[in-house]
Amino acid sequence: MNYITELHRRFESEGVPFVYVSPSASILALDGVSASVLDHFTDGADLEEWVTGHDGDEEFKEQYEVFEGLVHQGLLKPEGELGPVAEALPPMPYPLTTLVLNVTNKCNLACTYCYEFGEDKLADALRKNGDARRSRMSAETARQSIDFLFENSTGRDQVNLTFFGGETLLNFETIRDAVLYAKERAAECGKRMGFALTTNATLLTDEIIEFLVEHRFGVNISIDGGGEEQDRHRTFKSGKGTYEEIAPRIQRLIAANSGVGQPIGARVTLTEGAASVRDTYQHLVGELGFDQVGFAPVTSAPGRDYALASASMDALLDDFRVLTEDYVEAALENKRHGFSNIEDLLRELHQGVNKAHPCGAGLGLLGVSTEGDLGLCHRFVESGEHEVGDVESGIDQEKRQQFLIDGHISNKAECQTCFARPHCSGGCYHEAQVRYGDASHPNVHHCDWVRAWTDLGLEAYGKIAVGNPAFLDRLDGDPGAPAGAVMEVEV
Ligand code: SF4
Ligand code: SF4
Repeated sequence: MNYITELHRRFESEGVPFVYVSPSASILALDGVSASVLDHFTDGADLEEWVTGHDGDEEFKEQYEVFEGLVHQGLLKPEGELGPVAEALPPMPYPLTTLVLNVTNKCNLACTYCYEFGEDKLADALRKNGDARRSRMSAETARQSIDFLFENSTGRDQVNLTFFGGETLLNFETIRDAVLYAKERAAECGKRMGFALTTNATLLTDEIIEFLVEHRFGVNISIDGGGEEQDRHRTFKSGKGTYEEIAPRIQRLIAANSGVGQPIGARVTLTEGAASVRDTYQHLVGELGFDQVGFAPVTSAPGRDYALASASMDALLDDFRVLTEDYVEAALENKRHGFSNIEDLLRELHQGVNKAHPCGAGLGLLGVSTEGDLGLCHRFVESGEHEVGDVESGIDQEKRQQFLIDGHISNKAECQTCFARPHCSGGCYHEAQVRYGDASHPNVHHCDWVRAWTDLGLEAYGKIAVGNPAFLDRLDGDPGAPAGAVMEVEV
């Protein structure tokens, strides 16, 4: 019988050969014997032929044991045998862990690339019932959403509320009420409660800062870099840049939060012509004091002049390589580094995350519009096509389930032969909707990039595993956001 390898990626770090086994999302270090057995069967080889003539051969016995181990680990299989079937949907209705409340659909800025207000917006002007949309979520709708979250999170010890907009802080009143109410309800239900918020920081006041720190918010600030970089696209409606307005506010937040709250993160949207990510990183961490920085290329339909051209995506990969080297250097000295893209990827690799869906949208996470309509995630709220019920009458389970079936990795033909699929799983649904008019379509326009990025992550993982394996323990625990927290188009 012929044996052949399953989908995998071989790589080398610090002279040590490794293999990433895609069906199990595991990373194995290879020694000389396992590497040679793997070489032998990589293109398929007959087992009987390989075994013949080795009776009583002790050296071969060791090779055969390694062969059996590789079969057991799922890396070798009889040729023609189908690989393990990707898990079907988990038992439905799947309990929620996170609700993203879009507390307002208005913004005080006019960023040129904004998906909510630009050419790529999915929002419908009217609700399904024909009513005009409300610009702000009332405290009553927020409370109703919280009740809905507790009713639909059976079995979860912790649930999370994330506040989003428009510009989230335009409706701080509702946020404050919602947090206090959610804490009361959490105490009644015996659950832990987590809070997060995304903001452009223009409206941060000392009162708001105190509140965010007191309630241990995970704060994510949308900022593109230093003054020149930030003001290229992130402007007030008058056209005036925002950097001068936000820098001192951010520094006050970081100072008040230091040693008390959750790390404060910057989320940088990368557009054509952006500064090098290393310079941006150094400014945000070194000068403004952010704990973490995550970079996301702008997502848009093809042809927008702010979208990254493919040459810029190549340059971005080079920049990510440099920041990854900095991260590894810090890890080898047991130090933290705030490049969150690589940390998220390393955490997934370390934990063997193997996604059947790219993110938690529609699964453990739903978005809520200002009126209480439920969307697949915060980026789909107000899109009638992607509405899955409302907080008053509950989730449209049939529609939710159909979406999850369509978006399941086993239905993405292009991804079946891709070694990066445990991490990518076809990519962001919102990006797919904007690009292909179909949320369940795999984002095949960036496959080469995703694979090269995954290679970078594997290599970095191997370097840390060889040089300071104890550091990897820090990557245990919460795997980021496969089924819960807001996951913004991480690459
Ligand atoms: S979208 Fe592309 S990179 Fe992602 S899993 Fe599918 S084939 Fe791989
Ligand atoms: S990755 Fe895309 S679809 Fe998933 S939660 Fe984030 S924006 Fe929504």
